[in-house]
Amino acid sequence: MAKLDRKNFLKKTALAAVSIPAIVSACSSESNGNPSDAPAVQTGKKYRWKMVTTWPPNFPILGEGAEMFAEWVKDMSGGRLNIKVYGGGELVPALEAFDAVSSGTVEMSSGAAYYWAGKVPAAQFFASIPFGMNAQQMNTWLISGGGMELWREIYADFNVVPFLGGNTGVQMGGWFNREINSIEDMKGLKMRIPGLGGKVLEKAGGAAVLSPGSELYTNLERGVIDATEWIGPFHDYRMGFHKIAKYYYTPGWHELGSALELGINKQSFEALPKDLQVILETAAFRLNLWTWTELEAKNAEFLEKIKSEGKVEIRKFPDEVIEQLRTYTDEVIAEFVASDATAKRVYDSFNAFRQKAKAWSDLTEKVYYGQIEK
Ligand code: CA
Repeated sequence: MAKLDRKNFLKKTALAAVSIPAIVSACSSESNGNPSDAPAVQTGKKYRWKMVTTWPPNFPILGEGAEMFAEWVKDMSGGRLNIKVYGGGELVPALEAFDAVSSGTVEMSSGAAYYWAGKVPAAQFFASIPFGMNAQQMNTWLISGGGMELWREIYADFNVVPFLGGNTGVQMGGWFNREINSIEDMKGLKMRIPGLGGKVLEKAGGAAVLSPGSELYTNLERGVIDATEWIGPFHDYRMGFHKIAKYYYTPGWHELGSALELGINKQSFEALPKDLQVILETAAFRLNLWTWTELEAKNAEFLEKIKSEGKVEIRKFPDEVIEQLRTYTDEVIAEFVASDATAKRVYDSFNAFRQKAKAWSDLTEKVYYGQIEK
């Protein structure tokens, strides 16, 4: 830091430090110590909202988190904002949650941006793309690296204000009843894998099968599909895949840190007094972190259970397979952004941030994993 910059920095820091007590005393003199002198924003008006989700009713962690979010908002607002949460299909079909918020049928949704890829293709970058960023990097890009500004701008056309609502962390590569020793083994592989990951599998000669979660176990058991990805050890264990699959492959190259989303109808959000808006934003921050840490903790716990209770063999995709999938991914993304100017803009921001994050993690995180963590 140059001498002059440093001097200015210290001056600003000192100013900030003295201005905090100044603000506090200004606030307390304004209210004059009288508790009935509440800020003008607290009108006492009550709001009743509906939140639709893409999660099956009572879905662990993700659905649970949506319910907890509603409780936090109710408690923080002293009961002025009540949100009723609906599981996928209870009020509207799961994948119509975005439309329901956009049209104002409901005020809120909980899901993930790649579910709306049919309507807003560029939105996939705000959830996850193959060979994309991990949870730490996605959070950093979206919260502090300009990603959220782009997300808000793109959703404004649809009347929706997005918030981060969690992250799955690095997912597993999936459950396979076929060994993957080379990219040739992907040929003819029938696998449940959604989105851009599915397009990459198709470049490798496989068949991406769309199969609802409720049918996955039976389809894998009966050989209708050869493989399926889901999330990670915690959710996968509950599906019972460890009882019927031969191999559990890592890593989830197609979902390295899927960001989850809360969407709020723009008019509904703007009609709220400022303090309720801040409460929603604050509760979203809490949900974002809680969902991520809960998944990390539960996945570590359930990995042990799968190892001890299942006959499944846990394997890493060979480097050669990963490198070939990376090449196919580059082709899929290049084709995608060439056909969509908005996707290109988002990808440019995503990619520029990723390059910087990589240089930093090469020097720190990778050294941690390679040298410190034993
Ligand atoms: Ca998945």
